[in-house]
Amino acid sequence: MEIATECPICESLGNSVPVYPSNVDASSFSTEIFSARRLPDRRHYQWVRCNKCTLLRSDPVLDVDLEKLYVESTFDYSTEVAGLKKTYFNLVKKALAGKKFKKSIFEVGGGNGFFLEAAKDGGFANVAGVEPSTEAIAAARSDIKPHMIASMMKAGVLADNSFEVGTMFHTLDHLTDPVSTLNDCKNALQKGGVFIVAIHNERSWSARLMGERSPIIDVEHTHLYTRKSGEALFKKVGFIDVRSGAYNNHYSLAYILHLIPISRTFRKRVLESSVGTLLGKIKVVVPLGNMWVAGTKP
Ligand SMILES: [Zn+2]
Repeated sequence: MEIATECPICESLGNSVPVYPSNVDASSFSTEIFSARRLPDRRHYQWVRCNKCTLLRSDPVLDVDLEKLYVESTFDYSTEVAGLKKTYFNLVKKALAGKKFKKSIFEVGGGNGFFLEAAKDGGFANVAGVEPSTEAIAAARSDIKPHMIASMMKAGVLADNSFEVGTMFHTLDHLTDPVSTLNDCKNALQKGGVFIVAIHNERSWSARLMGERSPIIDVEHTHLYTRKSGEALFKKVGFIDVRSGAYNNHYSLAYILHLIPISRTFRKRVLESSVGTLLGKIKVVVPLGNMWVAGTKP
């Protein structure tokens, strides 16, 4: 069944222009598709741009049990984890802009909790992770696993007013109702606490260059943001001191190849060969068109 979606920022229903036509059917939905870091296959719903606030959203979408798919999703970040830990820890430092928080931090949708390892190793005393995939939690480091909660982020999953910092890396653009999830995250923060997300920037040069062939134009993504619309969403939820910025990723060349819009068979053949192993060892810093948005709980 097709469901029309509403713009989460301005609440428009319809009132949009089509950007890319849909190429999905019911067979596009499998656990494999909803697993983190799978090879992008570029299945996507129709993308439309909101006339009122310019947010890009999937509309209409199919009636799919996303929670079930994410609970069953597999975990295979493999060799990129070291780079991602560094990337995310650096962007949190940047987004905190000198605030000396070290007591408590939570993360939503963090897979096996690799960022929480970086946070704990970087001095945070208390960490908590909210993650639906049981397979991902099973792969968590032994000192992180007891702090992981197997759930989607919902009201009551984390105690209210209890964290200095909250984070969500590349999860916001997958949410059906980003306003309600952000609100639940805000409730878990102490007064003056900061919430930070990392998301794609749909107006970045790589997204513009690749257009419909960009890996971000994907059935997993419900909304795609710009710095302006990302900030507008945070303000709508009631965050103050809302800021945003671009960040660079530390990736291996193998991961870059994984993202490039060339034939899936060719990419797979190269990545599974000895050349692929070599590419996995070469680390580079790349501006992939990602950004962060942060806001403070008043
Ligand atoms: Zn809108």
